[in-house]
Amino acid sequence: TARTPYIGRFAPSPTGPLHFGSLVAAMASYLDARAHHGQWLVRIEDVDGARNVAGADQHILASLQRCGMQWDGEVTWQTQRYALYEQALAQLGELIYPCGCTRREIADSQVHLSGRQLLNLVYPGTCRHGLAPGKVERALRLKVPQQPHCVLSFEDRWAGHYSQDLTDEVGDFIIRRADGYWAYQLAVVVDDGAQHITDIVRGADLLDSTPRQLYLQQVLGLPRPGYLHVPVVVNDAGDKMSKQTGAQAFDTGADPQVLLRQAMLPAARFLGLDIQAETIDAFWHAATPAWAQLLHTLPRRA
Ligand code: GLU
Repeated sequence: TARTPYIGRFAPSPTGPLHFGSLVAAMASYLDARAHHGQWLVRIEDVDGARNVAGADQHILASLQRCGMQWDGEVTWQTQRYALYEQALAQLGELIYPCGCTRREIADSQVHLSGRQLLNLVYPGTCRHGLAPGKVERALRLKVPQQPHCVLSFEDRWAGHYSQDLTDEVGDFIIRRADGYWAYQLAVVVDDGAQHITDIVRGADLLDSTPRQLYLQQVLGLPRPGYLHVPVVVNDAGDKMSKQTGAQAFDTGADPQVLLRQAMLPAARFLGLDIQAETIDAFWHAATPAWAQLLHTLPRRA
């Protein structure tokens, strides 16, 4: 039987240099593609103009190359793909509406918030049937079905079963932001669809974005890829190690031995791979079958 050829991707936001946490995500997606004899694409997710850092894209690409991660085809930049997002918006048609609410107003409208909802404001649907009086259009939102509730579930290859009630936990969500930028959720789904991505391997901080992405795939008529969310590297304070929290970039100018010892072997160890290697080539040679072995131990329900 013919199987769809594997196409994976690494999709960094150019908000700073590649750091240990993003190296872990890149390594996992690269290893998964190699273990499946698949392709591995790199897409720079630069739609969030408010967070982009000049030169970070080239810095990340150079780091990937120094680590011996070879991408297939041309690197893509989301800022060059606005036409695709416009097309998707047109396709969503009646499901989209303009919203004039500010974050403050949404927060104030909700008295009985649980911890999770406080972090991730649930939109109460104020503008769903037309801009509330006195409001001006800010963002564009996508309607989430109310009755019955829109519940989306999937089997994560690492984390196991995951389910979210979009109606209760998210509400109508933003497709184009008040500042005019395309929302991550829309851009990522459109690009994964257009690039025929079959398998998404990324950090577990995006687990709770996945149901929104599944819903967008449904309404856009796109196939659902497989998902594998690797644990997120946290710092001593327990925060996700990210470019925003000032995570240290590893020195990619360093010699390959240092890169291997100080970044690649520790990243592999974080993923549960015990690799012995003296060179970067030897590292990938050993890590690929080790990853294939590790796949047999999944899912690992936390
Ligand atoms: N651009 C996102 C980030 O850097 C990742 C998106 C994804 O892998 O779906 O956090």
